[in-house]
Amino acid sequence: MQKKKINKQIIIQPKPSKYRLVAKRSSAGLGLYTIDPIKKDEQIIEYGGYKLTNEEAEKRGGKYLFEIIESNFTIDGTPRWNLARYANHSCKPNAEAVWYGKHVWICPKRNIKPGEEITYNYGRVYFKDIIGGEKYCKCPIHHPSKGHLGKLTEKELRRYSRNS
Ligand SMILES: [Zn+2]
Repeated sequence: MQKKKINKQIIIQPKPSKYRLVAKRSSAGLGLYTIDPIKKDEQIIEYGGYKLTNEEAEKRGGKYLFEIIESNFTIDGTPRWNLARYANHSCKPNAEAVWYGKHVWICPKRNIKPGEEITYNYGRVYFKDIIGGEKYCKCPIHHPSKGHLGKLTEKELRRYSRNS
C-alpha cells in the first residue's frame, strides 16, 4: 500500500488483486464478478479510496463510505479505481469485509467459482439507512422474483477470460 497526499487527501491505494475481477451490470446496478476461482482463506480485493476521519465522512456523506468505528477512520471508496466498491450488499453473501489496521479487505467466506458475483453484508446501519430495509434490498433473499443475476453466463465468462 502507498499513501500519497494529494490536495490534503490521503489516498489508500489498494494492492492489485491476484484474481481477475470485472464490474458488470447486476440486479443492483453494477456488480463485481470473478473470472478466476477464489479459495477460502485468501483475500479477494482491498477496499481503497480516501482516508477520512469519521467526522469528515459524516460531513461528506455518500454511498461508498466504509466506516471503521473502532479505529475512528473511514475510507471513502468513491473513486472508480476502487474496484471493490462494485461488490454489492447481500444478506446471503459469499464474502465478508475484514480490516487489518488501516486496510480493509474483501475476503471469501467459502470457495467461489468462476463467474460468481462477489457480495458481502454491508451491516445493519447501511441496510436500514441506505438500502431502506427488506423491501428495497436487492439480494437473492429479499428480491428473488426479480432474479438476482449473481453469475456471469458461460459465454460472458469465456469472453472475459480471453480479454483479460
Ligand atoms: Zn437482503
